[in-house]
Amino acid sequence: MTPLVDVYVGLGSNLEDPIAQVRLALEALGTLPLTERVAASRLYVSRPLGPQDQPDFINAVAHLRTRLSPLALLDQLQALEQRHGRVRRRHWGPRTLDLDLLLYGDECLELPRLRVPHPEMTARSFVLLPLAELSPQLQLPDGRPVAALASALATSDEIEVLPE
Ligand code: AMP
Repeated sequence: MTPLVDVYVGLGSNLEDPIAQVRLALEALGTLPLTERVAASRLYVSRPLGPQDQPDFINAVAHLRTRLSPLALLDQLQALEQRHGRVRRRHWGPRTLDLDLLLYGDECLELPRLRVPHPEMTARSFVLLPLAELSPQLQLPDGRPVAALASALATSDEIEVLPE
C-alpha cells in the first residue's frame, strides 16, 4: 500500500465569515479520503497582500498524513475550495477559501499544476508562523528550518493570533 506521507496545507479566507470558513475547512480536511488530520494551528489574522481595500485574512495551517498522491491531494483541495463556493474576483483579491499545498513530505515537484514546496511560502508570515507553531522542528526539503525562517520574517503589524 502507498505509504503515509506528512503534508502541510495552508488555509486562507477573507470573505463570508472567514473564521467559520477556515474552521469548517479544517474539519473537512480530516474527512478527505486516505487522509488523516494530525493537527491544526491556531487561527491568525493577517493584512491582505496586494490591494488593501479588502478585509483582513484569517489563516491557519493543517498537518495531515495521506496516502493520496500529490495531484490526487491537490484535486481534493480544489474540490473543497469549490464546495466552499470559492469566489475570486481578481488576482490577490478577496476569496472565500484558498487552500495551498505547502509541503508533501520531502518532495520537490515542478508540475504544470503543482509546485511543492509552495513557491511563495518562505516569504509569507501567515504561512510560516502557523507552520512553525505546529511543527517547530520542521525543515524544508532543502534543509532550511521553518522556525528560523518564521522568526526572520515575523512582523507584528502584519499578523497576529486570533484572540480566543
Ligand atoms: P491560487 O489561485 O493562488 O490558489 O492558485 C491556484 C493555482 O495554483 C491552481 O491552478 C493550482 O494548480 C496552482 N498551484 C501550483 N502549485 C500549487 C500548490 N502548491 N498548492 C495549490 N495550488 C497550486
